[in-house]
Amino acid sequence: MRTLAIIGSGPAGFYTAEAALKTFGEDVRCDIIDRLPTPYGLIRAGVAPDHQSIKAVSRRYEAVATDARVRFVGNVTIGEDVSVEELTGLYDDVVLAIGAPLDKPLGVPGSELPGVMGSAAFVGWYNGHPDFHDRVPPMAVEGAVIVGNGNVAIDCARILAKTVGELSDSDIVGDALMPDLRSGLRRVHILGRRGPHQASFTLKEVGELGELELATPLVRPEDFPPVEADAALETGQRRVVEVLRKFAAAGPDPEKRVVVQLDFFHRPLKVLGNGRVEAIEVMRTRLDADGRAVDTGETEIIPCGLVVAAIGYRTSPVPGVPYDTDAGRFANVDGLISDGLWCVGWARRGPSGTIGTNRPDGFALVERLAAVERSGGKPGPAGLDALLAGRKVKVAYFADWQKIDALEVSRARPGAPREKIATLDELRRVIAD
Ligand code: NAP
Repeated sequence: MRTLAIIGSGPAGFYTAEAALKTFGEDVRCDIIDRLPTPYGLIRAGVAPDHQSIKAVSRRYEAVATDARVRFVGNVTIGEDVSVEELTGLYDDVVLAIGAPLDKPLGVPGSELPGVMGSAAFVGWYNGHPDFHDRVPPMAVEGAVIVGNGNVAIDCARILAKTVGELSDSDIVGDALMPDLRSGLRRVHILGRRGPHQASFTLKEVGELGELELATPLVRPEDFPPVEADAALETGQRRVVEVLRKFAAAGPDPEKRVVVQLDFFHRPLKVLGNGRVEAIEVMRTRLDADGRAVDTGETEIIPCGLVVAAIGYRTSPVPGVPYDTDAGRFANVDGLISDGLWCVGWARRGPSGTIGTNRPDGFALVERLAAVERSGGKPGPAGLDALLAGRKVKVAYFADWQKIDALEVSRARPGAPREKIATLDELRRVIAD
């Protein structure tokens, strides 16, 4: 019997479990451990609340979690309730699938001012992640600045710019709807240090900026290279650039109240404010011959009450596990950290790709892991149960999650799929009895 502990119940964790079931057949037991009592990681707390179709993949994960060979073991924190070293003693293989939950710091003066936050905190707050329940961003602002030119930046801008009505069928937490506060917003800037050709947006996300009820995109025509240069782009990027060119040609819709301004060739220099964010000073940039952003020396000041840095993520270090500080993920060779200890998904390769990218990643890891013979005899799940019972840890199994799920669904606003429980205390209360 092969025994696996997968730490992290997001997409990477579930695809790895699915691969293990396919590869080892009946001859496997798989525990998916999570520090939260709720499964699904980024699907629940990272994917935008208005992208419900992407979240539907959790049904596939549910089929894995309810397989007799698999257990969801929630409310168990690695490094507190049980160590990685203990797990490698209990299971044949331990796979770290903990994603990249930490924000890459903005690192400019003034970043510590209230009203500056990373996208993990901002997205986590509106998605009801218990870690960020208290990180309430200022929403009564006329101007907001999102730093970064990836899909997370677009998600943040879109969630700010949407009306309460547009978010009614999403699972955004009720606190984040704030109807009175949203009405004052006029400008959302998305700062990119490079140009439209270098943006990391995908077609659907950029297209949605043109479909907002009260918000309209603004792109400056002078930020584009000559149109002939688009031919050198790969198809996906060329389509993104075509949409951006359409926005630039159309100009912002004067009937719409909020302008979502794509400020290409701008990088943050300094956050300004007295006790809270009042503005951000930015440097105009241009591309050098190697495609890097270099300063032009021209600066400007953008007034704003909220700055969100959506510039990438880092994996949380885990005691005793080698960490690559420069890359912000575990030190590994093709997923192998050390004998019996592996990593997968963002914890292996860094924060790139879509949810679906984690499926081949999980399958490839299990192929490598299966190539290593194990002598067997480790206690596996029974050993973990004994250890956690001895430490009086209250495990949240999948049935406990189903209780939370049912309660959230029953509390949903009209038209919404659920109202999330966003504090650890309340989540734990639900599963207490
Ligand atoms: P990303 O796609 O890597 O974009 C990060 C952006 O931050 C880049 O534009 C980068 O610019 C910029 N940046 C990095 N450091 C910076 C700095 N110090 N100052 C200014 N700008 C800086 O990351 P992401 O948006 O966090 O997304 C992570 C992954 O999740 C991506 O693969 C993304 O596609 C995926 N995702 C997908 C969806 C979806 O499919 N709907 C939604 C959300 C996220 P440079 O290019 O110049 O380095």
